[in-house]
Amino acid sequence: MSDVSEAHDVVVIGGGPAGLAAAIALAQTGAATALIARRAPYADNRTTALLGGSVDFLRRLEVWSCCEDKAAPLQAMRLVDDTGRLIRAPEVRFSSEEIGLDAFGYNIENRALMVALEQRAADISGLARYDDEALSILPGDTDVAVHTGQGKSLSARLVAGADGRQSLCRAAAGIEVRRREFNQAALTFNIGHSRPHRNISTEFHTAHGPCVFVPLPGNRSSVVWVVAPREAERLIALGDGELSEATEAQSHSILGRVNVEPGRHLFPLAIEQPRQFANARIALVGEAAHVLPPIGAQGLNMGLRDAADLAEIVAEAVISGEDPGAPHTLKRYNSARRADIISRTMVIDIANRSLLSDFLPMQSLRAAGLHLIGSWGPLRRLAMREGLAPSWRPTGRAGKG
Ligand SMILES: Cc1cc2nc3c(=O)[nH]c(=O)nc-3n(C[C@H](O)[C@H](O)[C@H](O)COP(=O)(O)OP(=O)(O)OC[C@H]3O[C@@H](n4cnc5c(N)ncnc54)[C@H](O)[C@@H]3O)c2cc1C
Repeated sequence: MSDVSEAHDVVVIGGGPAGLAAAIALAQTGAATALIARRAPYADNRTTALLGGSVDFLRRLEVWSCCEDKAAPLQAMRLVDDTGRLIRAPEVRFSSEEIGLDAFGYNIENRALMVALEQRAADISGLARYDDEALSILPGDTDVAVHTGQGKSLSARLVAGADGRQSLCRAAAGIEVRRREFNQAALTFNIGHSRPHRNISTEFHTAHGPCVFVPLPGNRSSVVWVVAPREAERLIALGDGELSEATEAQSHSILGRVNVEPGRHLFPLAIEQPRQFANARIALVGEAAHVLPPIGAQGLNMGLRDAADLAEIVAEAVISGEDPGAPHTLKRYNSARRADIISRTMVIDIANRSLLSDFLPMQSLRAAGLHLIGSWGPLRRLAMREGLAPSWRPTGRAGKG
């Protein structure tokens, strides 16, 4: 192992979409930034519905122009109660026009987004890239020492921990995490279909979880199908023809004939919430800071807001010649992220639990709530705006356009 340590203002650990976005945003502030992340093709076929200010943030990172032709606009969203229960909620339809927007956002395959992020990360000046992984992270009084698998030693005044669910950075910062597993798994795959989606995303709410069809460019959509783990195992093992038929039946044929594309992945569902979002010169970004069930397309949108907020706070520290990893800087990050992450995790948890509940009063409450949202314009518009981004975020950040 080399004993010469390379010093940086900020080291970002983890090169998923949240880590790459954070590394680019931090390098754009003028802070000397390094990224420790393996360069590997993106491994699954998830897509992201980029909502609210996420696209504006990617524009500011000069990433969006490299991938926008691969994204489909989302102009309407239908929530359909497909529980077959006695008490069912009425269909709710949200339209971006109603809140004066051309689209709520854009759905893009993570693979395409990652190519654009990697390209920009390679081009931007002030970002050193280590195609490597962090093996040990040791926070000290004045900096954090990071040792990599290939024997490099780095030091940084601030570490951005974007190393996903089993975050080494979170452990190094001494941050505890509350974890709750659900008896649910999400099966993801993409489909071609004979009828156009008309840029409408449709969520069928079944008694086991939502099954969501989100538009992709052309007559294609991405599918996130949440079911009990055993049913997920059964579905993933089906032949292409059988899965196409099952998907068409679940979609009630709204997209016509369905043909599944190659590639399926399973994600066990859980909620993870750390007690803090920064400590000991380490700030958490992306799934290291929050894991949610895929309801309402919130996960990476929050991860991009983590990246935007951290970069803004570091930019202010750099301008005023302050230490970007000092306790008061981390405190600012903690309070900037707390309300957004905690409130969204809670709302999604309640939405998921109310769908799964066999308790009749809970089903009635859910149906009444959705009826109110569907029929009362001001509440519907509030739900749409809050679904895109928290209303308290100042404009210019990734929360609002
Ligand atoms: C089925 C499903 C559908 C979803 N749909 C949406 C959606 O529509 N909209 C939305 O906003 N969100 C969505 N999400 C959430 C979104 O996919 C995640 O929030 C996002 O992918 C997490 O990105 P990340 O960069 O934080 O983590 P990851 O992609 O997990 O990246 C972490 C990276 O860190 C690396 N790493 C780990 N340890 C180390 C180390 N020691 N050194 C170096 N590197 C390390 C890993 O190899 C990995 O590359 C969905 C999630 C699921 C499961």
